[in-house]
Amino acid sequence: MSTIESITLMLALVYSISLLYWSHNKWGAAITAAMLAAAMLVSLHWPLFIGLGVALVGLFTLKKFQPEIAQGQQRINLLRELIRHALALSMMLVAVQFAINAAMLKAGVDPILVRPDIGDAFLPIAGGIELKAAIGLGIFDNDHPAAAVMLVVVLLTGLLCKRAFCGWACPLGLAGDYLYKLRKRFIKEEFAPPAWLDWILRMVKYLFLIALLFIVITMPLASIPHYLDGYYHKVADLKMAYFFLSPGPIALFCFGLILFLALWKRQAFCRYICPYGALLGLISFLSPFKIRRSTEHCLINSKGMKCDKCTRACPANIIVHTQSTVRSDECQACMNCVAACPKKEALYFSTRSGIKMSARGLAIMLLILLFMIPLWAYVGGIWHSETPTELRMMLIQHLNKIGH
Ligand code: SF4
Ligand code: SF4
Repeated sequence: MSTIESITLMLALVYSISLLYWSHNKWGAAITAAMLAAAMLVSLHWPLFIGLGVALVGLFTLKKFQPEIAQGQQRINLLRELIRHALALSMMLVAVQFAINAAMLKAGVDPILVRPDIGDAFLPIAGGIELKAAIGLGIFDNDHPAAAVMLVVVLLTGLLCKRAFCGWACPLGLAGDYLYKLRKRFIKEEFAPPAWLDWILRMVKYLFLIALLFIVITMPLASIPHYLDGYYHKVADLKMAYFFLSPGPIALFCFGLILFLALWKRQAFCRYICPYGALLGLISFLSPFKIRRSTEHCLINSKGMKCDKCTRACPANIIVHTQSTVRSDECQACMNCVAACPKKEALYFSTRSGIKMSARGLAIMLLILLFMIPLWAYVGGIWHSETPTELRMMLIQHLNKIGH
């Protein structure tokens, strides 16, 4: 686990412990702290200790100058933006580290920076094949184990808290938001497609998901060990990086399309293209937590007033003010609607039996899932890639010739 990964992980988990403590869940804070301490002591991985130091200094500074943020008592949108930007910054640093590592390999020089394993999170097909191998054959991959770990983590977030990963963590969603805002500064109009076209476009991401699942499902179990031993799998991360860094005509077309979508409509990439979003959307139907509207407290029913503030605040264009439960696969649990609602108790994120989850609770759950599982995967030896550097250095020279 690289230093950047370790510092990010420690910042997230120490902040989660602080949020648990300040939300009076002392047992939760103690258990999370104990799991963190145990992982550090078992692994004795020194960057984790550096990360702990950075996180503690950061937290005490925050507590002194911005106590509301340290305690998670800021407005919902601010909390979400804080987490999104911190995770995006970390991913940018990871991307730079990955690029330096790859560039030095290509130059035939021993890299001064290790390869960040979290980059494997961008290999969902490899992750799916690895999971299939683990379940069907009891084989654990040694080259990109983090791909399977992160796939499980992201699926768990969908199962527990809908598409909160998209709304609170995904750096691509954040980049899309910035592009959309940039376009709106110059061209104010909304170019919303008609409902029928919107529905058709939304189905496109499911077609991409079907294509990805097809690759994983149709790969015969018996041929998986051969695939995992092959050079293609060993450099899947480098091939993916070169797809972005030295784009051919297909990649350029894809980038152009994504850029156009992001500028055209808010969250258009998440809504129409992203197969991860499609997967999370499907799984989110199983999530016990959903946005629910209390007809007892909502101004429409309780006071007979006209109100649609929740609907107008929704970036996913969901009609919230007429529903008692938002079941849509597009709901990213962003809680914009809750933040916009003028009536306390009218709108909340809860289970059917009435267990409510605040924005702070959602942030805690998400951060613990996203970071505690990878930490223990690292301790358990299913995080760090064991592909030798010399082999990667040799293979990167022949990247274009390496196929399935
Ligand atoms: S319904 Fe609420 S939580 Fe869901 S996407 Fe819309 S604003 Fe966000
Ligand atoms: S914003 Fe609140 S009060 Fe207004 S319609 Fe939505 S739930 Fe009801």
